[in-house]
Amino acid sequence: MVHGEDVFPELVRRLEDWFRKHGRRFPWRGTRDPFVILVTEFLLQRTRADVVERAFHSLFSRYKSPEDLASADIGELRELFSGLGLFYRAERLRNIALALVKRYGGQVPRDLESLLLLKGVGVYIASAVLNFGHGIPTPVVDRNVMRLFNRLFGLTSERRVRDLIERLYTLGDHVPLAYAFIDLGAMVCTEPPRCQSCPLDGLCGKYPPRKGEWRMLRKVVLGGRVLLREQPAK
Ligand code: SF4
Repeated sequence: MVHGEDVFPELVRRLEDWFRKHGRRFPWRGTRDPFVILVTEFLLQRTRADVVERAFHSLFSRYKSPEDLASADIGELRELFSGLGLFYRAERLRNIALALVKRYGGQVPRDLESLLLLKGVGVYIASAVLNFGHGIPTPVVDRNVMRLFNRLFGLTSERRVRDLIERLYTLGDHVPLAYAFIDLGAMVCTEPPRCQSCPLDGLCGKYPPRKGEWRMLRKVVLGGRVLLREQPAK
């Protein structure tokens, strides 16, 4: 690292301030309902946020709980999603709701392993549910966050990024901080980076991205148990 841990408090302060002024406002960011977070994050995988935003209110006004979604008419669900290009998500999503009802009594689990045992739920979604839905401080790392921490501190291992984020969480509020990492990575520390608009300019090591070396966590389910392995990012 170019900078030591002494910059952490200032980094957190600047990030929280930047997020208050520039962070994206989505309807799911105003809730702490783990079911809403789980469904939304599932839909956000490979789907633009504005598309998910258009479906948000109609989806959650009809399906307020895992039980509602598990008993949804699949034709109705597909119809709701088809105009948004999410047609193929309908069945997978209903299966997740069915698993919540059957295995977890209609509750969204509060531990990583149980969440990862749900088909279609990976490390990112499970972490988002814990952090934003259950309020359990958990790093939420996507490729944009990896790029940010690569540039800031030269890190290429998701495990190391998560360790560092956990330390940063102790200096602030883990919910806005996690959203700030996600938004800064998506909006400012882009390819190429917009350092002139970045609140972290001056604190940042500006290490060149080593995308080919990134190792991100993937779940492997073996004999009903979940293992987490770092694998090269695709
Ligand atoms: S200063 Fe530049 S490289 Fe560093 S985090 Fe900000 S945008 Fe990224």
